Amino acid sequence: MAYLRMQDLDLDGRRVLIREDFNVPMADGAVTSDKRIVAALPTIQQALGKGAAVILMSHLGRPVEGEYDEQYSLAPVAASLSTHLGQKVQLVQDWLGGVEVKPGEVILCQNVRFNPGEKANDEALARRMAALCDVFVMDAFGTAHRAQASTEGVGHYAPIACAGPLLAGELDALKLALEDPQRPLLAIVGGSKVSTKLSVLETLLDRTDQLIVGGGIANTFIAATGHEVGQSLYEPDLIDAAQRLVRLAHERGGNIPIPVDVVVAKSFSADASASVRPVDAVGEDELILDIGPLTAANYAEIIWGAGTVLWNGPVGVFEFENFAGGTRTVAEAIEKSRAFSIAGGGDTLAAIDQFDVAGGISYISTGGGAFLEFVEGKTLPAVAMLEQRGRTEN
Ligand code: AMP
Repeated sequence: MAYLRMQDLDLDGRRVLIREDFNVPMADGAVTSDKRIVAALPTIQQALGKGAAVILMSHLGRPVEGEYDEQYSLAPVAASLSTHLGQKVQLVQDWLGGVEVKPGEVILCQNVRFNPGEKANDEALARRMAALCDVFVMDAFGTAHRAQASTEGVGHYAPIACAGPLLAGELDALKLALEDPQRPLLAIVGGSKVSTKLSVLETLLDRTDQLIVGGGIANTFIAATGHEVGQSLYEPDLIDAAQRLVRLAHERGGNIPIPVDVVVAKSFSADASASVRPVDAVGEDELILDIGPLTAANYAEIIWGAGTVLWNGPVGVFEFENFAGGTRTVAEAIEKSRAFSIAGGGDTLAAIDQFDVAGGISYISTGGGAFLEFVEGKTLPAVAMLEQRGRTEN
């Protein structure tokens, strides 16, 4: 991958515009998890250490473009950054016309998604962003799969565009694990819907030695084998697709295991009582909310036999204690296994936190959609831009 890296560039006295991912969870106007902010600190400190004037930008949530909305203001992020860096980080409300920043200073531009044209990657907007800087640094892996003005467009017009250490580190780790993995390579794909992950399931069937599905996705596979799934979340339209994947796995001498037991409830709620059933004994009025203990133990065995484990998505409704058992068993099996393990995706990160298994996972990717697209072998648009700019610079 021939892109420039921030650490190799002379930034002394330069205006350095860094696209970070400060899309942090908030409640009552305060940051509730500053993980993403903390993750970005080494990049900012490195740029400051090289004598740069640092301009940060990020999105937060999904505001309506062109409309200022207080709940999506980055003000709480500026406050958190000021505390962590031990210096004032000013939030600049109107920044597209130009900003004042001296070497050693850090400013934060207000939410990029307030600007009309951000999502459509408007060229005029991208050019205005690029005009703010001498060097553009793309450091937000979680948004690298989106071609938007602040992630991709800006890089074409900035005098220099390079990858920041967070983004480069993430790409290096994923590449290492996917290009020459320790075999057998196991992928566990959970979550709610087959439809959002169909192409990733197809690719993984090709690339891995074993695929395990969980969550609402597994429900569709259970229905595809002819079992009753009652009121469970599943996608009748994707039963054909699930059957085709199962057939393909068999043709390749493998399988996609179907849960042998499941945990069911009569309603989708935190206090619903849980019953374990064999997979062929689900009632018409029941919902499957987790894999059962036998199935979870089988999956743990498969995990212990793997050389590399890729994990995306919970295998049950882990947010409800009564239905968290399957995801806990899978998470703890990955934690204890000797395999090189990579986990990614918003809910997966929440599960890793909940079960306190981060210490046993080799690499935790910050990107949800970007992680899945990388695993699928797609070129991430922001990375393609960096590679194109890298070629013209060298
Ligand atoms: P996704 O965003 O597709 O990765 O899905 C994550 C969500 O799927 C989590 O919030 C889980 O609670 C949910 N989920 C997992 N298993 C099930 C299930 N059996 N039924 C309904 N939702 C589920």
